[in-house]
Amino acid sequence: MSHPYKAALQQAHDAADAYLAASSDSRVFPDADALEHLKAFDEPMPTASKTEAETLALLVDHGSPATVSGMGGRYFGFVTGGSVPVSVGANMIAGAWDQCPSSATNSPIGVKLEEVVSRWLLELLALPASCGVGLTTGATMANFTALATARHALLARAGWHVENDGLYGAPEVKVIVSAEVHVTVEKALSMLGFGKKRVTRVPVDSNGAMIATELPELDALTIVCTQAGNVNSGAIDPIGDIAERAGAAGAWVHVDGAFGLWGRMIPAVAPKLEGLEKAHSFATDAHKWLNTPYDCGIVICRDATAQHAAMATNAPYLKEGANAPKDMVPEFSRRARAVEVWAALRTLGREGLTEMFERCCTHAQAFASGLEASGFTILNEVMLNQVVATIGTEADIAAIQKHVEQSGVCWFGVTRWKGKPAFRISVSSWRTTHEDVDLSLDAIKAAKKAVLG
Ligand SMILES: *Cc1c(COP(=O)(O)O)cnc(C)c1O
Repeated sequence: MSHPYKAALQQAHDAADAYLAASSDSRVFPDADALEHLKAFDEPMPTASKTEAETLALLVDHGSPATVSGMGGRYFGFVTGGSVPVSVGANMIAGAWDQCPSSATNSPIGVKLEEVVSRWLLELLALPASCGVGLTTGATMANFTALATARHALLARAGWHVENDGLYGAPEVKVIVSAEVHVTVEKALSMLGFGKKRVTRVPVDSNGAMIATELPELDALTIVCTQAGNVNSGAIDPIGDIAERAGAAGAWVHVDGAFGLWGRMIPAVAPKLEGLEKAHSFATDAHKWLNTPYDCGIVICRDATAQHAAMATNAPYLKEGANAPKDMVPEFSRRARAVEVWAALRTLGREGLTEMFERCCTHAQAFASGLEASGFTILNEVMLNQVVATIGTEADIAAIQKHVEQSGVCWFGVTRWKGKPAFRISVSSWRTTHEDVDLSLDAIKAAKKAVLG
């Protein structure tokens, strides 16, 4: 039966199918020609209407070749993950549904799936079932939500209602971060009025983990921002120890675990996260290592009431039950981002998830030993999915990275680690295979040969 959506949907489905069919063989970073063709989008704003078919064709013809291919198995930049097939399918259905799960009156299914996903996530991460959970755009906003909750809770205890009275004249909240704090935590702190420069930075060890004994004095007006998974090395702060000290002082401990929080599910990594449940708030991403499509972070606060107090919106036309999604995160209207998370969790199950995370860690080890055997120096302790490697000068590193990028075989970025120029490899896609690692190592070796002889 024909309907107004049919033609566009069919065209989109066919294009998506062709794109994904080619994804394991296609170039990882677009070539110069594809980038040149982006000019096709530099049109004036059309006055007259066009056909849907023509618009979608332009998107596919000149858009697809200019994508960075994260859906194959050989993208190792940043920490991006891929998307497991069921989450891509669920994403298409969610697109057709166009639900806004602000509350159950707005989307019964959207809210139901958020409830289910929240319960499952707390189980998987071994956190108390009473925690507040919210789905945000990403870990940046998950960090923001958690830190807003911390701000509320600490100031409320001191008799100050920050949501009503702001920070003007409020008791000062001290913020402690690690020397390796992620830039998005700094951004969240700045959005909350704490100021990026007003924080105390705690020194880190050689792998980038906070040294707990270097923590300054903590009190009931202190927030300590810890990290599970350094964006370069994968290092995990001694969160259990820190939470123990902080708990005694009445301080709040937040965990930025954008990808490393999933270490809770990896038997070899979980001991490093022992005692994590004593922290007060947690941020992670679904769109990174959990391998669901973009636009999904997860915030968890042990004090659900404080999270609600920091985020709730009330208006006369809103009559909602406890902890409606809109009252647990910054966004009011948004997509039903639990759909893809639900689909991935339900399909993979606990065992499938652990297996996916472990596989990435195994591949990271293979990268480290392969690179070491080819003359590179590994700068980090490879205990998660991250590898930091170096060779030669900064210019050599840049040239090797460029050479690999141009080969189209794989992609990774450059960084600085402990003052040394390096490149970083993050294995975070379900799709990466042993063959992908071998092909990528070959491309890196060829680049090294071309650059260093
Ligand atoms: C990616 C990342 C973030 C930010 O997450 P987004 O989903 O990009 O907002 C925060 N912290 C760490 C450690 C990260 O790797």
